[in-house]
Amino acid sequence: MPSLFSRILAGTLPAAIVANDGPWAAFLDIAPVAPGHLLVVPRYEAPLLADLPPDVLAALGPFLARAVRAVRAATGAPAVNILVNDGAAAGQAVPHVHLHVIPRTTGDGRWTPPHGQTGTDLAPTLAALRVAWR
Ligand code: AMP
Repeated sequence: MPSLFSRILAGTLPAAIVANDGPWAAFLDIAPVAPGHLLVVPRYEAPLLADLPPDVLAALGPFLARAVRAVRAATGAPAVNILVNDGAAAGQAVPHVHLHVIPRTTGDGRWTPPHGQTGTDLAPTLAALRVAWR
């Protein structure tokens, strides 16, 4: 069974589609955090970002930049949050990769990720990451 977002991109479910003519598409979130809240979704159906093929990933950068420019221009917002809930444990509700582009203005009171504490010992994680990176 195709995912909810695959059905939207195939036109079998309705959505407020902004762009749908390449490896990535954009449509409005049905429950926007702010007006202009856009979802950027690959046509290739996979749950996690790292599952996407290299050519799809390579096309993401320019498409995302275009989406951000469009959201800023259409809403007048000077800033956006770009958010990926990459996996169920991170809050992903729809198991088909999607990036949220959420317009932000100063003092809008919306959620911003909290900063952590300095003074944390970075060394063990740094070593593990350098091994994992290879
Ligand atoms: P996430 O929690 O990151 O998986 O986000 C899923 C997002 O998909 C939520 O913000 C929903 O509001 C949005 N959503 C769910 N169904 C639809 C739909 N039919 N059309 C547009 N957005 C949707």
